[in-house]
Amino acid sequence: MSPVPVLCDLDGVVWLAHRPIAGSAEAIAALRARGHRVLFVTNNSSATVAEQERALAAVGVPADGDVVTSALAGARLVEAGERILVCGGPGVEEAIGARGAISVPHDVADSSPIDAVMVGFHRHFDYEIMRRAAGAVRRGARLIATNDDATYPTPDGPIPGGGSIVAAIATAAGVNPVIAGKPHTAMATVVRDLLGGLPADAVMVGDRPSTDGLFARTLGCRYALVRSGVTPAGTGRAAFDADGVEVHVDVADLAAVARWLIESS
Ligand SMILES: [Mg+2]
Repeated sequence: MSPVPVLCDLDGVVWLAHRPIAGSAEAIAALRARGHRVLFVTNNSSATVAEQERALAAVGVPADGDVVTSALAGARLVEAGERILVCGGPGVEEAIGARGAISVPHDVADSSPIDAVMVGFHRHFDYEIMRRAAGAVRRGARLIATNDDATYPTPDGPIPGGGSIVAAIATAAGVNPVIAGKPHTAMATVVRDLLGGLPADAVMVGDRPSTDGLFARTLGCRYALVRSGVTPAGTGRAAFDADGVEVHVDVADLAAVARWLIESS
């Protein structure tokens, strides 16, 4: 088998809240040494791409030019010159700027014209931000979410994620958001454009079947489930078979995925 693209989720695969998972850096190096292109595909939209590249380098994983975020996917859903009310982190502002659209701060006047509201994880969310965002949507702006992950894993347990914030704004605005990140199509477009297409034997590696497994289906590639994150060893397959997730390999961690790929190539 010739080298294939390997798409790695970050949290629960490479690290847990930036604490490296044993063997992941060595596994990525081994895959690259055999010619596999390794990309990092994350629903984290709050950090900039450079911040995520630096964080990966800090755990021994060079990643320049290899990081795809849900902020980049969200930016695919806006056009150059559009005015975007940003309810998210610096990664969202960066991606909107790179797209040629205009980031409007959330404390702008209510009468300012807004084409779309883009929501991602941020820690300063409050009632006033919700009121302005929902108001802009009620006046005609599109509602875009970088991702709809309800929670975000930390060493102390799950905390509310960007999906919880967008749910509040969507409820107040009375609309459903368009979602950009895994497992949705905008994210798949970013991956395909970066790689110049994606073969069916590419592998998406992730710990969460409802995002990573369904994203593999969106991409039309294989899914490797790892038990190093939110899906602990022993969780029965019935739990995600119901979602229509097809698991091609079910192993402990990224190191085991690399052994499987290397042995089968
Ligand atoms: Mg994960």
